[in-house]
Parts: sequence; C-alpha cells; structure tokens
Amino acid sequence: MAEKCKICLIRDMAEKTDIYEYVKKTRAMLPEAERASDELYENRLDVCKECDSLLAGTCQKCGCYVEIRAASKSAKCPIKKW
Ligand code: SF4
Repeated sequence: MAEKCKICLIRDMAEKTDIYEYVKKTRAMLPEAERASDELYENRLDVCKECDSLLAGTCQKCGCYVEIRAASKSAKCPIKKW
C-alpha cells in the first residue's frame, strides 16, 4: 500500500482517485453566488498546504476534504486560519 502524503492536496497526489472527481464536481455544482473565486480558493489551499492539520487532503480538525471546504465562499477554517 502506498504511503499517504503528509501534506498533499488530493489534486496533487500522484494517483488521483474518484475522490478528486467528486471534489471537482462538488465545486462546479456550487451556485456561483456561493462559490469562492479562484483566487480565494487558491489562497485558502495555500494556507492548508502549510498547515500541520492537513493529512492527505483531509483537515484533521474538521474531517473535511479541504478542497471541498475551501470551495464555498462562506466556509471557514475551523481554527480561523482563513
Ligand atoms: S482548514 Fe484550517 S485547520 Fe484545516 S487544514 Fe486548512 S488551514 Fe489547517
């Protein structure tokens, strides 16, 4: 079994899984008024990538895939990093 990446986002993993398709679809399905802009989304993910609580695309504080959590404009980091 491949070792899990400590800090990678799902999209950065060498073997993209169905989860990545789910992430993309979920973001695309958000109403435009609720969808974070590309800039906001990338800024949030940059913070997550530097965070010790990120493990294999999942936030260990809330259990979410950060690429989904960050997609919603109104979402917040559980420890207020963004
Ligand atoms: S959502 Fe917050 S706590 Fe979770 S990985 Fe991102 S920055 Fe860290």
